[in-house]
Amino acid sequence: MSTLPRVLIFGGTHGNEWTGIKIVEHYQNYFKNKFPNLDLEFILANPEAFKLRTRYKDEDLNRAFQYLSEQRSSYESQRAREILIKINEAPCFVIDLHTTTANMGNTLIVSHYNARNLGLCTKVGKKYPLCRVIGAPDPNRKYLVSQSDFGVMIEVGPVANNIISATQLESTLGLLEGILTELSLGIITSPGSLEMYEEKLDVYYPQDEKGNVSAYIHSGFQGKDFQKIKGKYRPFMAFEGGEMELETLEELYPIFINEAAYYPQQLAFTLCEKKLISY
Ligand SMILES: [Zn+2]
Repeated sequence: MSTLPRVLIFGGTHGNEWTGIKIVEHYQNYFKNKFPNLDLEFILANPEAFKLRTRYKDEDLNRAFQYLSEQRSSYESQRAREILIKINEAPCFVIDLHTTTANMGNTLIVSHYNARNLGLCTKVGKKYPLCRVIGAPDPNRKYLVSQSDFGVMIEVGPVANNIISATQLESTLGLLEGILTELSLGIITSPGSLEMYEEKLDVYYPQDEKGNVSAYIHSGFQGKDFQKIKGKYRPFMAFEGGEMELETLEELYPIFINEAAYYPQQLAFTLCEKKLISY
């Protein structure tokens, strides 16, 4: 087995997010040649969903890991078991490539708040000042990336599902190269602090008495991911007419506004708290 630092790069955990899939298909040699001191492995996480051009076949692979003890028979449960075995073969850093239909720009999502992950995000953030860091604590280890203590998700948008958009593909390649550059230099875990947007509260679409969604995202709120909210704000417009108001006493920041993948759960957006995390 290689003695080089081991890095697993997953694309297509969601089968309709083509950016990561095309990176697995077309850019392996570029990165392997550029970083000969890293043991890089590129993995298409959910090939059946990619064939179907859907987010998943039976269930969301990026939530399936929390149910492994239940021995479910879904395709994604089987893939999750295979992926977990692969991750556990030897210590590794995991990078999971995602896109969003929301106007989130370039983000890194970190679940395990250890010095190595946070130090890496700090260094990449300095090189890519337009990249924000999202904190998504994952105590149940439901995400693919959380199966290793060391890893981040790259989440870039806006891009529609099942397409390649130049800006988002090239941004993702840039962030991936930035992370691999830091990993190839070796992460020095000296103390520091990192500004992040930590997920705090999910906001669902309003419903009518039959449980159907009764409103859509307000034109003044669409695309306003990461824009500060305090006091009253108007995220929704009712189909029957009329703006709908919500209020927050704290200063919060919305993300995943109008994300296509969250329509089945009627999830409209997530509110984050801006935090400075010391490590
Ligand atoms: Zn995704």
